[in-house]
Amino acid sequence: MSLAHIPLVDLSHGGPMPQLGLGTWPLDDDEAEGAVLAAFEVGYRHIDTAVKYGNETGIGRAVALGGLERDELFITTKLDGEFQGDDRAVVGLEGSLRRLGLDYVDLLLIHWPLPARGAFVSTWQTFERLLADGLTRAIGVSNFTPGHLATLAAETSVVPAVNQVQLSPYTPRWAEREYAVAHDILVQSYSPIGAGGELLHADQVQELAGKHHRTPAQIVLRWHVQQGLAPVPKSADPTRIASNAQVFDFELDSDDMAELATLDRGPAAGTDPDVTGH
Ligand code: NAP
Repeated sequence: MSLAHIPLVDLSHGGPMPQLGLGTWPLDDDEAEGAVLAAFEVGYRHIDTAVKYGNETGIGRAVALGGLERDELFITTKLDGEFQGDDRAVVGLEGSLRRLGLDYVDLLLIHWPLPARGAFVSTWQTFERLLADGLTRAIGVSNFTPGHLATLAAETSVVPAVNQVQLSPYTPRWAEREYAVAHDILVQSYSPIGAGGELLHADQVQELAGKHHRTPAQIVLRWHVQQGLAPVPKSADPTRIASNAQVFDFELDSDDMAELATLDRGPAAGTDPDVTGH
């Protein structure tokens, strides 16, 4: 398998960021270490983790063993509800940096808005300080709706560089993407291949896999990157890790994209961050 050439994309601050990264949930420390080392070997430089995943120590070990320069890497972590409000994010990021063995992360995300708690605005203000202090190169959010983003915009000054949302041909998240384009926010796609489930067996995906001589996962990941989205597919399997990154050397044509558009299940099909999260 040849080395993947994953393009860099600009962020409104921080960055640049490799457009495709490795997801690491639900890998434990040992599994994450192996997956990240396998990913580095085939050209990945962007790794997605979170405090909640419990694998930052394993990722830190892979970073130490991988022999790559710090500025070649793009490491994202996320702080969950335990670290919202009252400057708890300071303690949260300190813990992540210790486990990862890093002086700074490249991207720090609020994992979920948890709007019923009413703490995401004050958490964001703490994030702004962590950014100014150089402990993270960029700050962003995850699972934020346009409504949550509008609340942030009204009460804080730094626009999130990224909104990481559940996004695939089944749940294309048009509202989040429209807001993102209007406000220079990059959309990252989590569960980009539908968590490896029925999406990969859908007739439309299977048919295009045959047409392009690609795997179903490559067809779906190409759908993301061709639209400027930044997917973070997870795999623990070295062959899949390698093939998932080989999506920058072919194109889906407009008929192919129209075919995949028929998979859209509407906005109600995905997770609703107004009522779920941690
Ligand atoms: P995903 O990346 O869409 O799918 C992962 C699943 O697909 C795994 O079971 C994997 O199994 C399988 N898979 C990977 N490559 C494959 C291939 N080429 N062919 C067939 N199956 C394949 O779903 P996800 O793990 O839910 O999401 C990806 C990442 O997004 C997570 O790991 C995490 O970093 C992030 N995430 C973020 C949030 C958030 O709230 N911000 C929520 C969920 C996930 P194998 O390992 O066996 O290959």
